[in-house]
Amino acid sequence: MANFLIVDDSRTSRRILKGILESAGYKVIGEATNGQEGYDRYVELQPDVVTMDITMPVLDGIGGLKKIKEAYPESKVVMVTAAGQKNKMVEAVQCGADEFIPKPFDAEQLVATLTKVINA
Ligand SMILES: [Mg+2]
Repeated sequence: MANFLIVDDSRTSRRILKGILESAGYKVIGEATNGQEGYDRYVELQPDVVTMDITMPVLDGIGGLKKIKEAYPESKVVMVTAAGQKNKMVEAVQCGADEFIPKPFDAEQLVATLTKVINA
C-alpha cells in the first residue's frame, strides 16, 4: 500500500486527512506544517505521495511543490485546495502538480483521486 506525507499548517486538516487515508488502508509516514518542512521530510522519508496544502507560512505549498519537483521529478504531489484558489491551481499545474483535492474533504472523491495518482 502507498505511503503518504501530509503537508498542511492546519492540525485539524492533517488529522481529518490522516483519518481518511488510514481508513482507506494507506499509511501516513510523516507530517509537515509548511513547504520547507515538507521538502525536508520528503528528502528524509521518500513517500510515495505528498498531499500539499497551498496557504501555509514560511514557504507555501507552491514553493514546497517546486522544491520537491525540482529535486525529484518522479515524485507525486497532490495539492489540497480551498475555494477561490484558481490562480494558485494554474500555477501549481505549471509547477508539475499531479492532482488536486478540494477542502472540505470528500472521503470517497479523495480516495478515488489518490488511487488514480498512485496508479499513474
Ligand atoms: Mg493552510
